[in-house]
Amino acid sequence: MRAIETSLDNLWRKRVREKFNNRCCMCGSNNNLECHHGVAKRRMKSTRWDIRNGFLLCTKDHAFVENNPNWFEKWVRSKIGDDLYDEIKRQSRVPFHGEYEKWKEHLKGE
Ligand SMILES: [Zn+2]
Repeated sequence: MRAIETSLDNLWRKRVREKFNNRCCMCGSNNNLECHHGVAKRRMKSTRWDIRNGFLLCTKDHAFVENNPNWFEKWVRSKIGDDLYDEIKRQSRVPFHGEYEKWKEHLKGE
C-alpha cells in the first residue's frame, strides 16, 4: 500500500475515535475499540477516508455487526439519516483518481 494511504488510514482512525469520544458507539464501552466503515466498505477508496463513514465499535459489537449487516444498515440509517447514508453509498461508487490531497484536507480540517 502507498505510504500516503497508510497515513490517511491512521488519521482517519484518529478522527473517528475523536468523533465518538473514544467510546463504542453502540454500548459506550471504552475498551478494545476498532474503527469500522459503516456505509461503504474500506476497499471503496472514494469514501475510505470520509469521517462520516466511520464508526467506533468494541470488538464484541464489531463482530456482531459484521455478522448482521442488514441489522447494522438499519441502525446506521437511523443514526445518520437515509439522505446521508445514500449519499455516501453513491459517492463510494465514484471511481477513485488519487484525490489524496482532498482527503488530507478533510481529515485535517473541520
Ligand atoms: Zn460495544
